[in-house]
Amino acid sequence: MLSSEAFDFIIVGAGSAGCVLANRLTASGRHRVLLLEAGPRGRHPWLHIPLGFGRLFTDRRYNWCYATEPQPGCHDRNVIAPRGKVLGGSSAINGLIYIRGQAEDFDHWRQLGNAGWSFGDVLPYFRRAEDNERGADEFHGAGGPLAVSDLRDRHPLAIAYVEAAVQCGYPRNDDFNGAVQEGAGFYQTTMRGGVRASTAAGYLRQARRRPNLKVVANALATRIVFDGRRATGVEYLAGDAKRSARADVEVIVASGAFNSPQLLQLSGLGPASLLKSHGIAVVADAPGVGDDLNDHISGRIMLRCKEPITLNDAVRTWRGKLRHGLHYVLTRRGYLAIPAVSSACFIRALPTSATPDSQCSISLFSAQTIGGELHPFPGVTGNCVLLRPESRGHVRIKSADPRDAPAIHPNYLATRKDCETIVAGVNAMRRIFRAPAMVRHIAEEIDPGAHCDNDAELLDFIRRRGSTTYHPVGTCRMGQDPKAVVDERLRVRGFAGLRVVDASIMPAVVSGNTNAATIMIGEKGADMILEDAKAGTSGRDVVRAA
Ligand SMILES: Cc1cc2nc3c(=O)[nH]c(=O)nc-3n(C[C@H](O)[C@H](O)[C@H](O)COP(=O)(O)OP(=O)(O)OC[C@H]3O[C@@H](n4cnc5c(N)ncnc54)[C@H](O)[C@@H]3O)c2cc1C
Repeated sequence: MLSSEAFDFIIVGAGSAGCVLANRLTASGRHRVLLLEAGPRGRHPWLHIPLGFGRLFTDRRYNWCYATEPQPGCHDRNVIAPRGKVLGGSSAINGLIYIRGQAEDFDHWRQLGNAGWSFGDVLPYFRRAEDNERGADEFHGAGGPLAVSDLRDRHPLAIAYVEAAVQCGYPRNDDFNGAVQEGAGFYQTTMRGGVRASTAAGYLRQARRRPNLKVVANALATRIVFDGRRATGVEYLAGDAKRSARADVEVIVASGAFNSPQLLQLSGLGPASLLKSHGIAVVADAPGVGDDLNDHISGRIMLRCKEPITLNDAVRTWRGKLRHGLHYVLTRRGYLAIPAVSSACFIRALPTSATPDSQCSISLFSAQTIGGELHPFPGVTGNCVLLRPESRGHVRIKSADPRDAPAIHPNYLATRKDCETIVAGVNAMRRIFRAPAMVRHIAEEIDPGAHCDNDAELLDFIRRRGSTTYHPVGTCRMGQDPKAVVDERLRVRGFAGLRVVDASIMPAVVSGNTNAATIMIGEKGADMILEDAKAGTSGRDVVRAA
């Protein structure tokens, strides 16, 4: 290919995983790395103020603002599907919750045949990434690039929610990322000093000072270039200008669970019939690329509160906005420093579940639509996430134009067990909101409301109003079976010089939020890439294995 510039590694996507890779692959100074990011650099204050997550839901400057295809399990609604489009990717717009998942999630990945991915194997990478303000212990790290902090303020409603859960018989849990996840407590967050800690801040800021890293923002990768079965470079659009760059060692796709399979499909790796229908030359018929989309659906209930002590009340007037804005500027505390949810109870809603199957949280605000106007009265939201959905969907290109959004079909609530579990979880969460510590604060449940009092109606409500928790994974799934896209070293099966390193490789979504696990994947992926580069085996053995 014609190219003015050659690099050892090209990373496509500067998100949670991409920024980790950019940092770790440039640390030794030995490798020249190009980091391509479709979004801008992102200096806007809302990218740094924690409460910005609410603002960024619908901001097309920093968010792809995708929506799913009509979902049969959700009354044919197009469910919103935000994704970060800026340095830091989704870690720059997310809800700031630091939850890794359960040890059993990673042990399950290992049991599927993925050597090196048991909890014992990945814990060192979680710890290496982490700078937990509580300090280091068996489960946590200190001094890493990712700031993890306790809530700056414990709001009375967040405290009441934990007390109410304890009144319902759940144990207290001071560390959801410690020995056990089950129980009620307060979240830790990816912020420090009241400021968001995205991977752009934690990993990329430091790496950008290195002369061997080139970061190109506003650069949309359009195609991976191959020489036979070896990836040799990337073509991209910088504005309207077509550019290309050469990768002498590897191309690493880190574009997230929607865009990584999209880029592979645009490059000729995917289901042959799909590619042919869009006039794309087939490099490899890989039916697994874009398949097995696994995402968290949640049931959200809305409650009106008795006292005006919620975010709804704090920012209703300009005077309130100014007062809380000033408070934040002066102290980095208060409502502008809150994450999306404040406290939680991890619950085994089904008696048959060995570990928590539901993550039930409280948000200190309420709104009719996600990211929409807050209610004009005091309100909170209860959010119950179905932690291990069985339902699987897919991501497929809709055209050969890289600027077109792919078709996203998570196939929510497609199995009976998913439906039973989420109904049981929402019922358990409603009981917490009815316990004495919470009843003191709650005037009424407004959505779905007390009239909704049986499982069938509740399931219908969840189908009508439920939403993603923004944790899509699995579309470039790691595994040993013929449909798996990458192997346990994250090498694209059947290709040399090509890996996928991001949330899309997860064989199944973790029982929690996905940023921490994706950063872990970036950390572990970087080690494997450097090991293979040192041994001079980057991808060669994979071609043989195809
Ligand atoms: C609204 C929201 C709230 C969330 N809340 C939480 C939370 O509270 N806690 C938590 O743990 N997780 C949360 N998540 C999930 C978590 O942030 C993601 O799972 C994680 O960031 C995914 O990382 P990634 O590296 O796979 O992809 P991303 O971080 O999305 O990065 C992909 C990057 O690739 C870029 N890109 C895509 N295509 C191309 C292309 N063709 N060329 C160049 N660049 C490209 C994108 O612009 C993006 O910057 C949330 C996500 C969202 C969207």
